Amino acid sequence: MACVNLRGASNFIFNVKYSKEEYTQKLKELNLESWKNLNELEEKARGFWLEKPYREYHGNSLNKNVTGEYVYETRNSKEMYLANGADNCKWCQFITVKPAKDCYDYSGWGNSAEMIYEATVVGEKSSNVCFCYECWPDCMNLQYCFWNIAGKNNFGCVNLKYKKYCILNKQYKKEEYEKLREKIMEDMKVNPYVDKLGRQFPYGEFFPPEFTQFPYNKSNAMRFFPKTKEETMSEGYFWNDAENPTFPISLPHANLPDTISETNESILNETIGCSICSRAYKIIKGEYDLLRKMNLPIPHECPKCRENKRFARMTKPKLYNRTCAKCDADIYTPYAPDMPEIVYCVKCYQQEFN
Ligand SMILES: [Zn+2]
Ligand SMILES: [Zn+2]
Repeated sequence: MACVNLRGASNFIFNVKYSKEEYTQKLKELNLESWKNLNELEEKARGFWLEKPYREYHGNSLNKNVTGEYVYETRNSKEMYLANGADNCKWCQFITVKPAKDCYDYSGWGNSAEMIYEATVVGEKSSNVCFCYECWPDCMNLQYCFWNIAGKNNFGCVNLKYKKYCILNKQYKKEEYEKLREKIMEDMKVNPYVDKLGRQFPYGEFFPPEFTQFPYNKSNAMRFFPKTKEETMSEGYFWNDAENPTFPISLPHANLPDTISETNESILNETIGCSICSRAYKIIKGEYDLLRKMNLPIPHECPKCRENKRFARMTKPKLYNRTCAKCDADIYTPYAPDMPEIVYCVKCYQQEFN
């Protein structure tokens, strides 16, 4: 409970070992079925962790020659964020299913992806896919495509299944396709798309931001790369000021019982006011049953605020130069120099905690 930097340890609380009986007794004393006690313990644990060294980045010892954050079983890859089983890649994120090989500027998701460049949501046995979005599985030699399933040799196509040698969704013979594609690529270089801000997007660039209608501030991009409204607009993304609708509150969070045992299913009929944003939220049956099973209190925060809190705990996709707090070696880490964590290089961390 509330431990850090331990391996194969059991019955520890704040890194202190107890016998099984003592541990059970201590847990009882902590009385973590109480919302108040649970929150106090969390705060104390976070303070305790800050007194102990952090590893240069989140990853495992199966990495070789990598930089990034949340990187596992990866080789020869740089500036990665959330990657598993990548090889020879750079500036890739959300490679959640291994493997991915020879990829660059790629967001999601691997699963036997090869030679993917400036693309997102591409994977599952796809190779040589550039400037594409949502193209999978078994795609090959695609450029500027959107929603192609098992497409091969397509250019500028949308919503196709099992199609080959298509340009703007029209099918050609192989030779015609290659000739026309070459011609279009050359034309894109000399007559690039110009967006509303006057920026040029020649062949070799991903689609401009104005092609998406998703408001930046409502997307996950905002969590990883926060921007002000002015910054967002000046970079050509959309912004949406609309607030979600509000609902009348029947139970303020302050009136929630401290433990689940003090509640019954009538809580499912209440509209609770969030302790952070004051907006209304409900508890659903499945959630209630799980909390009861685990003897955990009803949360005082709405699902959105809980989600925000979880995201806030993640380190972000930005790396900083810093030195190891033990050996002074240069490290490249998601912990900015002004952050309070004590950061060790991988070698020092492993020496101390293996
Ligand atoms: Zn809230
Ligand atoms: Zn060190």
